[in-house]
Amino acid sequence: MKITDIEVFEVKPRWIFVKISTDEGLSGWGEMVSGTRTRAVVNGAREWGERILLGRDPFEIERLWQEMHRSFFRGGPIGGTIVSGFEMALWDIKGKALGVPVWQLLGGKARDRIKVYSWIGGDRPDDVVEQARDRVNRGFDAIKMNATEELHYIDSLKEVKKVSERVKALRDEFGDDLNIGIDFHGRVHKPMAKILVNELNQYNLMFYEEVVLPENEELFKEISNHTTTPLATGERLYTRWDFKNIFKEGVIDVIQPDVALVGGILELRKIAAMAEAHDMAVAPHAPYGPIALAATLQVDVCTPNVFIQEQSLGIHYNKGFDLLDFVKNKEIFEYKDGYVAIPDKPGLGLELDEEKIREVSAEGLVWTNPRWKNYDGTIAEW
Ligand SMILES: [Mg+2]
Repeated sequence: MKITDIEVFEVKPRWIFVKISTDEGLSGWGEMVSGTRTRAVVNGAREWGERILLGRDPFEIERLWQEMHRSFFRGGPIGGTIVSGFEMALWDIKGKALGVPVWQLLGGKARDRIKVYSWIGGDRPDDVVEQARDRVNRGFDAIKMNATEELHYIDSLKEVKKVSERVKALRDEFGDDLNIGIDFHGRVHKPMAKILVNELNQYNLMFYEEVVLPENEELFKEISNHTTTPLATGERLYTRWDFKNIFKEGVIDVIQPDVALVGGILELRKIAAMAEAHDMAVAPHAPYGPIALAATLQVDVCTPNVFIQEQSLGIHYNKGFDLLDFVKNKEIFEYKDGYVAIPDKPGLGLELDEEKIREVSAEGLVWTNPRWKNYDGTIAEW
């Protein structure tokens, strides 16, 4: 089998899909993350696809991965997501060719079902009790929300109290039945992170995510001195090499690698195995489109230390279009009692609506991550 064509699609609200076709009529789909650099990713994908993948055997996933990743300059979000999107499309082809879901090729089932959580509250957390009620009514017992809006290096006590009151409202309403993850989103600097963690400890939360930015990872040790709540990070780390220090330090409790950034399905599986050897849990990051989520579910099935899965149905960024708009077999993302079933179709398990993808892609994509400012006009982390 040979790769004969590579197509890249920019798809609203903020997704990049890639289709790899072969001379045997089989094709595979992958997803890349646009972030603020849609064009760089799309053009990079076209360049790498033409230079490395065209004419090659799509079954040689590891070899092609090595060729894509091991350029002299490597890593980072743009290169990482290009490699990832292609890699998952190659697995899709292989699974379809062999007539099995990808997880069958990675060790088989390690579980009966996959627990999922749901986002509430939006970018600037609000209406959290009402939204949590909606998720609970739909069977979820785990949710995640952002901690704060923009926060300066040293900010006011009022901002701290606002966060605390939101979490308290959830505990008052749902008691201990609701598992609550709090995403600091890297918005918080060290001084406020310590204060917030101390304030939120009373609510016994599921985890604190990206309490500080990943480039300040040495601070996790200090933060851990202020809490027993599990600390999570990893959505902005690329390949197993970026995770090395996390494992060596041993302070983080939950890693959150993203299949569309770390290098794809097998790289996510390798990173999860490294985490297992350090007694760390995995909660794969997956707030993007349907292909990335389907690829993540494939890894969840065969990975024992995944305890919960993020999913993006109805997430606050999905304005205009949502995951199911491009998926024909919508049951793949059907959540029952807070769980999703093991996907059983070949490859990534998706039947995509290609016609719709082409139609929406023709309209182009102008997504950029929000840019926030502090009260004094300085740049705030989003
Ligand atoms: Mg996050």
